[in-house]
Amino acid sequence: MTSESASPHPDRPGLRPSTLAVHAGEDRIKPGFAITDPIFCTATYTFANTQAVIDFVDEKQPREEYGRYGNPSEKVVQRKLAALEGGETAVTFSTGMAAVAAFLLAKLQAGDEIVLFDECYHRTRQMCREMLGKFGVVTHTVPACDYDRMEAAINANTKVLISESPTNPHLSVVDLERFAALGKQHGVETLIDATLATPYNVRPLEYGVDCVLHSCTKYLGGHNDLLAGVLIGSRDVIEPIRKLRGVIGTGNSPHAIYLLQRGLKTLELRMQRHNENGLALSEFLEGHPRVEKVYYPGLASHRDHEVARRTMRGFGGLVTFLVKDADADQTAAVVDAVRLPRIGPSLGGVESLIEQPMYMSYHDFTREQRLAVGIPDNMIRVSCGIENPEDLIEDFRQALEQ
Ligand code: PLP
Repeated sequence: MTSESASPHPDRPGLRPSTLAVHAGEDRIKPGFAITDPIFCTATYTFANTQAVIDFVDEKQPREEYGRYGNPSEKVVQRKLAALEGGETAVTFSTGMAAVAAFLLAKLQAGDEIVLFDECYHRTRQMCREMLGKFGVVTHTVPACDYDRMEAAINANTKVLISESPTNPHLSVVDLERFAALGKQHGVETLIDATLATPYNVRPLEYGVDCVLHSCTKYLGGHNDLLAGVLIGSRDVIEPIRKLRGVIGTGNSPHAIYLLQRGLKTLELRMQRHNENGLALSEFLEGHPRVEKVYYPGLASHRDHEVARRTMRGFGGLVTFLVKDADADQTAAVVDAVRLPRIGPSLGGVESLIEQPMYMSYHDFTREQRLAVGIPDNMIRVSCGIENPEDLIEDFRQALEQ
């Protein structure tokens, strides 16, 4: 490496999201003088001699040792994500769920308790209740955004408060200041899964939340071509999790990390179009006579519109709606009549996706369980991609009128 590689990372405070997305975390001069970071396709790293090994273990020489503990491209992406989120440091994972699991395993032991809002991603709820329940961790679930119920569920054993914001598919928006204050007041760590928001739309750490989680599989990667997860926060919060990741081996592959870095470069541009499409489609649907209800935090009719307007730069690309007077089959007919969005799970990619939650995300719930968590037969969830908004609206107009 040349001495030029020591150029500072351009992630100083004050730079705006697009500049950070392109430049933050990256050395100015890279191996081979390439403008892009290379994929380090290696399982292990070698030492010139025994003195080099000793210098490494004595922490005199920062470098890589073995792939399970990290690789150089991953460090670049972690610095970029930390800069975008306004956090001290970040640790990446093979998936969003691996990040959820690592957070919980690092923070909890038998007898500890979790309080979470009931609209958290259903696999997160399952992880807390079923998987950690087996090891003596107790989970209390309270209605989303009911801060009094959350506070009432906190006791001396409570170690973490968890929520998603906005939630999926109801798009509830958490008052992050209130949520973080509850944690501080009771000495409990707070985690926000901000996958649907991205750091372009909201930065929870600025409100006092301790740790932010993203499934980078969604908007951060942005192209429906990778799986990844990340946790961001202060070194005190993140370093024990990084240590645990090195033991359980849930880091990501160098190839996926390369795709994530590439996807992140266009985060601001993509989010601007996702936000525009989400708002345009939700306004169209709200005015359509065949639509009973639309869930979108950018609409004045949404319960959390005021909180969303106060805290979010934009409201994202996810739109949920109920088809008026429709049963499961009639709702499926609307899904099948749409031509642009593809039918599939996930969200946050450049291609629009559509699903009827009863058949996709909630297929393993009984009807009663599904209705209890607010997922009726006539619900459709759309993840607006970055297509032209007028084309998307025209497509939904023809589908609803068939
Ligand atoms: N958090 C949210 C809000 C999600 O929607 C998902 C996946 O759908 C996850 C976490 C889990 O992410 P992954 O699929 O990358 O494991």
